[in-house]
Order: sequence, then C-alpha cells, then structure tokens
Amino acid sequence: MIGIAEIAGALVLGGVLLEVVADASGTVRRRLFEAQRQRVALDLFRARVGADLAAIRREQEQREVAWEGFRKFRIDRKVMEAEDICSFYFTPHDRMPLPRFRPGQFLTFQLRVPGQPRPVIRCYSLSDSPERREYYRCTIKRLPPPRDKPETLPGLASSFFHECSEGDLIDVRAPAGNFCLDLNSDRPVVLIGGGIGLTPVLSMLNAICDANIPRETWFFYGVRNRHEHAMYEHLKNIAAHHPNIHLVICYSNPTESCALGSDYNVHGWVSVDLFKQMLPSNNYEFYICGPPAMMESVTQGLREWGVPDADVHFEAFGPATVKRQAPAAAPDAAPAQAFKISFARSGKAIDWEGEDDSILEFAKKHGIAMSSGCRAGNCGTCETAVREGSVKYLLETGHKPTERSCLPCVAVPAGDLVLDA
Ligand SMILES: Cc1cc2nc3c(=O)[nH]c(=O)nc-3n(C[C@H](O)[C@H](O)[C@H](O)COP(=O)(O)OP(=O)(O)OC[C@H]3O[C@@H](n4cnc5c(N)ncnc54)[C@H](O)[C@@H]3O)c2cc1C
Repeated sequence: MIGIAEIAGALVLGGVLLEVVADASGTVRRRLFEAQRQRVALDLFRARVGADLAAIRREQEQREVAWEGFRKFRIDRKVMEAEDICSFYFTPHDRMPLPRFRPGQFLTFQLRVPGQPRPVIRCYSLSDSPERREYYRCTIKRLPPPRDKPETLPGLASSFFHECSEGDLIDVRAPAGNFCLDLNSDRPVVLIGGGIGLTPVLSMLNAICDANIPRETWFFYGVRNRHEHAMYEHLKNIAAHHPNIHLVICYSNPTESCALGSDYNVHGWVSVDLFKQMLPSNNYEFYICGPPAMMESVTQGLREWGVPDADVHFEAFGPATVKRQAPAAAPDAAPAQAFKISFARSGKAIDWEGEDDSILEFAKKHGIAMSSGCRAGNCGTCETAVREGSVKYLLETGHKPTERSCLPCVAVPAGDLVLDA
C-alpha cells in the first residue's frame, strides 16, 4: 500500500519534474529564439557587407581607371533612334579599360567645330547601363533653330555630332555629375524623361534591368508622337521581360498613324495628375529630366502632392531650366543687391544690380570674354579665379571648382567681387 509520505514524495518529484520540463522547454524556446535572432542578424550583416563591398568595388573600379582632362575616343557606331535623334557608341582610342560610371552621369566633350574660333564644350548624358563595359553611349538630338528665329544657325555641337562619321576621334572628359540613381537602394522609383531628357533616366532604367534588380520601377516618357519616340523597341522589350518595370508612354500630339495602347498609353503630357491616377501612393523616389516647362510643372506638382524635396531629383540640360529652378534650389541665394564686380584682366568694374541670372550672363552682357560650356555648373569650362570676395551658387554644381575659383555660369556675387577675367 502506498503511504501518504510516498504520495507526497511522488507529488514533490512530479512538481520538480514538471518544473524541469518547463524550464527545459523555456530554455529550448529561448535558445531557438536566440539562434533565430542571430541568424537574422547574420543575414542582415551579410547583406550589408555585400552591399558595402559592391559599393567599394564600384568606387575602386571608378577610381582605378578614371582619367584627368580629355581622352581620345573613337565614334565606333552611330544608330538613329528617332527623327533627329542619334546614339553614338564611343570606345577609347587607347583601348584601356573604361571607368564604371553611375547611371545618370554625363560626359563632357571638347569639339573642334569648323568655323568656330575656339573649341566648343558640351555635356551629354550617358544613355546606357554602366554594366556595358566595352563602350560609352550618348544619345544626341540635333537642335534646329528656334521656331521664331528660323534664320539662326542650328545647334552647333549637336549638328556637328550628327555630321560626324564612324571612326572619327573626339576629346572626352571622364563621367561626372550628381544626378545619379543609387543602385544599392531598394526604394520604389519613378523615372521621368521628357523629349531628349530621356537619356539619363534611360541609363538608370537599363542599369536596373541589366543588374536584374527587382526594384519597383515606373518609367514615364513624354514625347510629341511616334516620330520623336526614341528606343521604341528597346523599351517595349524591357516592359515585356521585367515584371517590376511599369512603362507609361505619353504622346502630347499623336498623329493618325500613332496607335493608342500599342505605341503609347496616354494622350497628354507627363503630369502629377497622371501619377496620382497610376501610382498606388506618392511614396517613391522621383528622377526627372526634360524640357523646362515639364520640369517646372512636375517638380512643383510633386511638392504640392506632399513628396519631400529629398525624394525629388532633377537635372537641367541647359541654362533656361537653371534659371527657372534657381529660386527653389537656393533659398539662400544672394538677394537682389548692388555689388561691384571687378574684372581685373579686362580692367572693368561694373555694378551688379541683381538683374542677371549669373555672373557669366552679366559678364557677356558687358562685353567681357569668358569661356563657357554647359552653362549648368557641370563642365567646368567657365572656372575663373576669384581674387577677392566670394560667390553663392544657384544650384549644386556637378563640377567642383578648385579653392579660390568659381563657376560664373551658375554663381552670383555674395558681395563685392574681383575676378581674374
Ligand atoms: C548635364 C547635361 C546633359 C545633357 N545631355 C544631353 C543628352 O543626353 N542629349 C542631348 O541631345 N543633349 C543633352 N544636353 C544638352 C547639350 O549639352 C547641348 O546643350 C545641346 O545639344 C545644344 O547644344 P548645341 O551646341 O547643339 O546648340 P547651341 O549652339 O548651344 O544652340 C542652342 C539653340 O540655340 C539656337 N541659337 C543659336 N544661335 C542663336 C541666336 N543667336 N539666337 C537664338 N537662338 C540661337 C540654336 O539654333 C539651338 O536651337 C545635356 C546638357 C547637360 C548640361
């Protein structure tokens, strides 16, 4: 017969056993949780290290083979992409490797245009993916004279390029510019190209596709009609093979032969109203390049839609856009105040009344010779030594001037100024 003491003993033993089991399962659970936590941390660590290493490798590759000044390139191939739009494939004449560029960057060219007293300097965006290591490609639109001035000459550099032949040699500066897509980010992105402003955002799109990055990507491309629609087959192909890419083609002025639903998706301009209809939210990074009117309306519309400025990146192709964007880009720009600008070598001292958009424009108006290229702070052609005083910039410059020098094409005086010009 089992006595009370034995029952009590068994109960105590059972309780201890239960505690041990409970303890053990708690410990197991804790250990499992700890192991899982460590695995997640390790995965995160691995991903971070992987991304850091990739970024370091890219930077190293860029540094290893980037060049100073101008390097000779051969026009290897010319491919017409649409009416008056031609792609140029450049290969280095020295056959040395090409530095990797960041999608959105541009090249600066120094051209010897017949009849021009000085070399002509112009910037053109790289239009293909940085994964294509054997060539650089730029896509250039030949600029006709303005509609209201048909008697003027067509665009100097763009016409020169279109008239070049395969095999011709051209002087090129290394890729530069800060309007770049971060390929290490996985934030959903909206790429917007208007007209020939397609080029830098096309490079970004091609980079995402070439690297098979599953990042949600919207690509809005606005042109007048099928005649101006560059990269027609290429874009269709991308949309067909990459489920993460959403392509929206807008024709503002379609002709009868343009097919809605096949050639283009929207009759109208690229606009923020269109984004509101098509995008699930405004939580995207936006990259915009296009004609001044489009850039102005889209950047303004995005601000009104509540998109933070930090998520809106844009690039101007010319001085007109710079003028329009200046007040928004530089709230601390010099107030319209009278300063004296002295041009030491020309022996002129003139009052700056704040009416001109840049020191370059002011100098040209007063007959002072100053070289200039892109007129957007990117090529460095106008770099001028500052003897006294300082300047303020109207936007972030792609080219960084050396200490005690400035870029008059996008600068205004911060006070009285003496320039070496
Ligand atoms: C960072 C950056 C990237 C760029 N990327 C590209 C790109 O990928 N593709 C591209 O095609 N362009 C691009 N551009 C624009 C390019 O650099 C040139 O500005 C463009 O090709 C025009 O240069 P041009 O020498 O042909 O024309 P310009 O000779 O500078 O003339 C410009 C216009 O002015 C007109 N004109 C000439 N004289 C007069 C006059 N007296 N009065 C009124 N009008 C006149 C011309 O007919 C022409 O329409 C980019 C610019 C920048 C800054």
